[in-house]
Amino acid sequence: MNFHSMSVDELRSTRDDLRKRYETLQAAGLNLDLTRGKPGPDQLDLSNPMLSLPGDDYRSPSGVDTRNYGGVSGLAEMREIFGELLGTGADRTVALGNASLQAMHDVTVYALLHGTVDSDKPWSAEPIKFLCPVPGYDRHFGITELYGIEMVNVPMNPDGPDVDACAALLADDPSIKGMWLVPTYSNPTGYTVSEDVARRLLALPAAPDFRIYWDNAYAVHTLVDEAPAPLPILDLADEAGHPNRVYVFGSTSKITFAGAGVAFFASSAANLAWFTKYQSASTIGPDKVNQLRHLQFLKDADGVRAHMDRHRELIAPKFELVLQILEERLGDSKIASWTTPEGGYFISLDVIDGAAARTIALAKDAGIALTAAGSTYPYKKDPHDRNIRLAPTFPPIDELRTAMDGVATCALLGATEVLLD
Ligand code: PLP
Repeated sequence: MNFHSMSVDELRSTRDDLRKRYETLQAAGLNLDLTRGKPGPDQLDLSNPMLSLPGDDYRSPSGVDTRNYGGVSGLAEMREIFGELLGTGADRTVALGNASLQAMHDVTVYALLHGTVDSDKPWSAEPIKFLCPVPGYDRHFGITELYGIEMVNVPMNPDGPDVDACAALLADDPSIKGMWLVPTYSNPTGYTVSEDVARRLLALPAAPDFRIYWDNAYAVHTLVDEAPAPLPILDLADEAGHPNRVYVFGSTSKITFAGAGVAFFASSAANLAWFTKYQSASTIGPDKVNQLRHLQFLKDADGVRAHMDRHRELIAPKFELVLQILEERLGDSKIASWTTPEGGYFISLDVIDGAAARTIALAKDAGIALTAAGSTYPYKKDPHDRNIRLAPTFPPIDELRTAMDGVATCALLGATEVLLD
């Protein structure tokens, strides 16, 4: 029954029933974790053949001896594959070390220290800001917070960030230098940026050194038959007359081994030269042996897509289960809404305003770890205290069922408490 149309007495008795159910849940002594978007061990197993690669075959197809120093831009063949998958083209894509997050961090620090190719002074010369579509990815916000960059929330809609809100903010504020954005199956909503929104963002009047951090971490992580074709975002930036506006990131973290994959950075020729200049001071080149191992295993872009189909077989049932439990347990009560992603690693659950932290605390006391309250917002401050990020991939499906059923009980109980307050 719809909680919003209950009388106070009905709500009280519903709360009392839920408390009993919650006590049973607590008594079960669970120890379950729905926090981080990690691949499950069965997903990691898919890439186990890589553990014995490259064997003695240490030369890349184009003849690079991967055992030795050099090649700061990475193996040409890996740039080719991911240039295609990210829609950026091999020439404007470099293959790096194991973490795209590191590249996001590094370009931010380079700009703070030296300015971008379009800056007249280092970003750190004055207070600066980043636009943050919310809810978003906590580790993005962690980078900007660490370096004292002020974060400004903008709403994330099903077709991408609210462009009008971005336009209004950018129009009279040249101190806005950047924007975080996960364009495909965003973390945590699963939303994908439309071409129209992308074009509008690229065309907006902004500071010359305004940069969109286009973190395409889930470019090929589809749960449906067809992944959306990647937008040729660098070409679109050229067309919009802002060729240097976009920094593209990606990685194989959730394709092969999380933490032992290959990261990619793609941008205009000028931005790549700028990046490589500073990058070269800290490394003589990336781990090309790991890149070769990936190349031998994945082979080409179709090989990556086929591999992602195998991931999909393992995780689509988990997403379906979570959505089914949400509908069965929370649907009638109208105390929550959630996204139904077609890819990526998360489901974004909104409970009624003021109930997220309480729901997460109740779950914790029942042995179910949820991502900390507020994590999907800059400064960990969810202004409405309503968003909860669910990460279905890691737990085995039976544990996921138990955990989600428990989360539903906590969300319902939390909602009755807020409504009765
Ligand atoms: N970007 C997004 C949106 C993510 O969700 C994650 C991991 O959860 C990452 C980047 C991390 O990527 P990497 O392992 O390449 O640093």
